[in-house]
Amino acid sequence: MTVLVLVDHDAGAPKKISNQILTAAREVGGGGVHAVVLGEGATASAEKLGDYGVTKAFVWDDGDADAFATEPRTAALVAALEQSAAPILLYPADPFITDVVARAAVRVEAGVVTDATDLELDGDTMIATKAIFGGEMASRCKVREGRPQFIGVKANAFTAEPGGASECQIVVLNVSLDDKTRRAEVIDTVEQEAGGRPEMTEASFIVAGGRGLGDAEGFKLIEELADALGAAVGASRAATDAGWYPHQHQIGQTGKTVAPQLYVGAGISGAIQHRAGMQTSQTIVAINKDADAPIFSIADFAVVGDLYKVLPPLIEEIRKRK
Ligand SMILES: Cc1cc2nc3c(=O)[nH]c(=O)nc-3n(C[C@H](O)[C@H](O)[C@H](O)COP(=O)(O)OP(=O)(O)OC[C@H]3O[C@@H](n4cnc5c(N)ncnc54)[C@H](O)[C@@H]3O)c2cc1C
Repeated sequence: MTVLVLVDHDAGAPKKISNQILTAAREVGGGGVHAVVLGEGATASAEKLGDYGVTKAFVWDDGDADAFATEPRTAALVAALEQSAAPILLYPADPFITDVVARAAVRVEAGVVTDATDLELDGDTMIATKAIFGGEMASRCKVREGRPQFIGVKANAFTAEPGGASECQIVVLNVSLDDKTRRAEVIDTVEQEAGGRPEMTEASFIVAGGRGLGDAEGFKLIEELADALGAAVGASRAATDAGWYPHQHQIGQTGKTVAPQLYVGAGISGAIQHRAGMQTSQTIVAINKDADAPIFSIADFAVVGDLYKVLPPLIEEIRKRK
């Protein structure tokens, strides 16, 4: 069965989440993998997709994809769905992409399952596992009515593995835009300040801080450790709500889902809503002065102590070893 994957990309390179979903499409779908790549740099991104087993990429490498809000991309996605005729579309569960996909779903009368963390094929139906109640339970969902089936996949649900190396045929989409698709124009974009650190959902290491830091100043220590490790900085909702760190760094049920190789949490209690966003991290190190803090129940390394005493020597030691 052919699976079509909507590939998100950055400056001509597919994003990590796209490679993860392509890997899932190859392994779970068990058939051919097609891709649809939209926006400036789409052709350069598509040329790299053969490494992940994509045999055909539908490309719309056009500035109009970025010059207007979601409408032109929706038109291009519908064109790709028609040409590919794949019964399943997998897409990254990202707010902007979800907006495009939702519009396309209405147009082609597709059924949609959002936020999948695992996939399994049953005949011609994709079964998606979703975490519910803050990750305490899992539900298995399928599209009963409406074809194709659209499944949104969360970041880090799968590990990206190149494979099925093939020549990727590039098919240029012919997208005709009318006045309706140009109704909402993008008049300005503001780059999020990255500060030279990796983006959280792409990072291999994350250092996160919580209310236990005491104030916004405390994040300087978190940033120092992050920079020593080459890590991204995360935060609990208590810390972002207090205005100590920007909201886009929030990890958890109402923040981002992360699954780095290493998660270090300092001054974070480990409330269920926070754990929902990080509990699949490979190695979890928690620093908390309360030995009964819930985060210790999922920690691989539990450090009971005052973070202001634990972190400075840790940072010093890491710097020495670099
Ligand atoms: C609908 C809903 C959605 C939510 N979504 C999210 C979400 O996405 N992400 C999220 O994080 N939260 C979320 N929350 C909030 C969540 O319930 C918790 O309130 C929040 O995670 C607590 O943040 P915290 O661990 O930083 O603070 P606290 O729970 O106050 O914990 C602070 C910890 O720091 C420790 N500490 C204090 N001083 C020190 C020190 N000097 N050294 C070491 N340790 C110290 C304390 O022992 C304590 O364990 C949500 C809540 C609701 C109701």
